[in-house]
Amino acid sequence: MKRPREPDLELRGKLIRSLGAFREMLPGSFVERKRACGRPNCHCADGKRLHSQFQISVLIDGKPKALNIPVDLAEKVRQKIEMRQRFDAAAATICGVNLKRFLKEKEQRQA
Ligand SMILES: [Zn+2]
Repeated sequence: MKRPREPDLELRGKLIRSLGAFREMLPGSFVERKRACGRPNCHCADGKRLHSQFQISVLIDGKPKALNIPVDLAEKVRQKIEMRQRFDAAAATICGVNLKRFLKEKEQRQA
């Protein structure tokens, strides 16, 4: 006999299997700041064509820190920070499925 489909379990399994893809995730948020470097001859001196400074804004030992990111790593770091958000979303969905199953199991015991 074929077991009935359980969409929640299929979803949970799919998410669990996807978690490995997030192994390179980074904490915090990705910040892009615009700034002038202060050199009078630089293109940024017009106040419009400013330099981009990329940073990770993150709590380290409970204290907020802004870590500069070298420009050539910025895109990679941005993607790794996004991974954390997708990881958190996957974890929340998995917990939601498990909570639903727990409540159902509890209910069946009482019956
Ligand atoms: Zn400049």
